[in-house]
Amino acid sequence: MSTGATRHTRHTQQDRRAWQLPPVGGNPSSTAQGTSHGSFARAPQIGSPIPFGSPDAPGMPAASEQTAWDFMPPDWKRVGDRWAPPAGFVAVTQLEFARLGSVTPQMRRVAEREPHLTPEAVRDEVAAGRMVIPANPDHLRFHLDPMCIGRAGCTKINANMGASPVASGTGEEVEKLHWAERWGADTVMDLSTGGDLDATREAILRASHVPIGTVPIYSMILGRRIEELDERAVLEALEHQARQGVDYFTIHAGLLREHLPLVQRRLIGIVSRGGALLAKWMIGHGRQNLMYELWDEICQIMRRHDVVHSIGDGLRPGGLADATDDAQLSELAVQGELTARAWRHGCQVMTEGPGHVPFDQIEYNMKLQRRLCHGAPFYVLGPLVTDIFPGYDHITSAIGATAAGYHGASMLCYVTPKEHLGLPKKDDVKQGCIAYKIAAHAADVALGIPGTRDRDDELTRARAALNWERHFELSFDPDTARAFHDEDLDVDTDFCAMCGHDWCSVRISREIQDFASGKDVRYAWDGPRVSAPLSDAQRAILEARGVLEQDELDRLAGKTQRAMGAERGAKAACHSDHVDAEIAHRLQDERLDPLTLEPLG
Ligand code: SF4
Repeated sequence: MSTGATRHTRHTQQDRRAWQLPPVGGNPSSTAQGTSHGSFARAPQIGSPIPFGSPDAPGMPAASEQTAWDFMPPDWKRVGDRWAPPAGFVAVTQLEFARLGSVTPQMRRVAEREPHLTPEAVRDEVAAGRMVIPANPDHLRFHLDPMCIGRAGCTKINANMGASPVASGTGEEVEKLHWAERWGADTVMDLSTGGDLDATREAILRASHVPIGTVPIYSMILGRRIEELDERAVLEALEHQARQGVDYFTIHAGLLREHLPLVQRRLIGIVSRGGALLAKWMIGHGRQNLMYELWDEICQIMRRHDVVHSIGDGLRPGGLADATDDAQLSELAVQGELTARAWRHGCQVMTEGPGHVPFDQIEYNMKLQRRLCHGAPFYVLGPLVTDIFPGYDHITSAIGATAAGYHGASMLCYVTPKEHLGLPKKDDVKQGCIAYKIAAHAADVALGIPGTRDRDDELTRARAALNWERHFELSFDPDTARAFHDEDLDVDTDFCAMCGHDWCSVRISREIQDFASGKDVRYAWDGPRVSAPLSDAQRAILEARGVLEQDELDRLAGKTQRAMGAERGAKAACHSDHVDAEIAHRLQDERLDPLTLEPLG
């Protein structure tokens, strides 16, 4: 397309460059749209210890050279370049199928959902222990749609929910589950500590399309004091939940008795519920963590049902002042040991991480886990990068979560605005999910995962063309985008109320003949039109904001296209092609009747 003159101009510009780009890795756009060079992350290498990863800052730990292949069950034998299980062996877990070279239906489904991966690549990542597929066969009998967690795939988000002793119940939790799925949760953890735990878990498993995780110690201590917890109660609860179809368990087996002195000088001690309960148990009994001592028996149960380990971080920091301390990192080292032991049992494993971490320490935390846990997927809570914004911790943590995803975490556990303050309600679930979809998506684009920027690019084209309908269709939350737009100007035209007609740089760029901006024929629109009446959801959004008076909301919700003179193909009279600059100015300042162009009411 470019002419010789254009080539010459570009060449000259290149000669004049006063900057040098860092190495460019993958391109998150499938077709290299736009003028950006691509991701500054490392070039992707699926099948290596770092499939997608950030460049290492100085002093970062190198990736482990070991994988799950280095921790095979003792009764498997190496035969040539393959591993052979003992006679009569029947594979159960996705890891075992992968070790045998089999591609399962679950692996195929994962590859369908992550088009940059082949089913064989999924199998190889699972075999290396760098990816897990939480899909308990007993859950697959209902509506579960298999997905993966691993750094070769896109970053996933988890939404926590669950009834507490003082709030909510089974019905409300199932409603929250659907709500979390609606807003993009890739997995959901049922953390119920009140009400009928068994019934709530059962209802959530039957209703969910996403994997369900639990922290089984919560049900183990129902009706008994923590000091009364014994081995039998632990194993029975795990077997029961595994049979119900739970896809992954958080078990805080990495917190050891010898770690407890390291916590004494912390500002906020142990903030993990499971960690605090087990610390109390160890002190009360003068014994080692019974989850650690039962690890082999626990692995046998989880292997039988292909429940994925999510090895808990009972000593995660609860404030910036306690981050990356000896307690946290000592537990992480044990999590690595437990990872290797679980792999020897044929179990799939991910490990959990912090918490509250200053922004500058996040990369180290992610890369140390990658080393100590030999590439097992890292599932982190946040982390929050500041402690002084209760009520806004979905934001403080989404900032940390973006960095965590970029530096190696595979799944981000959401934090809602209610964190530290109370049980999240429906809208908190939505706010938490959206904050974390933003964090995960930003990390994926930064890592250069193929195709992850395609929707951004399409939206940019629609935005450049001032095609508002397409702009909103491509947005993650179309109702909010539409409602916010119509709150000021319920006409889709070639500017919006933010800058107004004369200052609309997008409109001006579109009019410059030399620019491609805004001229994609797929996004051409046939003229301005009054937008459709507000939907119930859009009206609710604007009502909650409280900017418009009731009669204005009634008017926006009650109008019809015909009444407003905006049938398909008809131009609304406020378009700047139709009106002079003076009227355009008035449009941006006040709400006008689109028919008469007189101020409303
Ligand atoms: S008026 Fe401003 S915010 Fe609105 S489309 Fe134009 S440039 Fe963008």
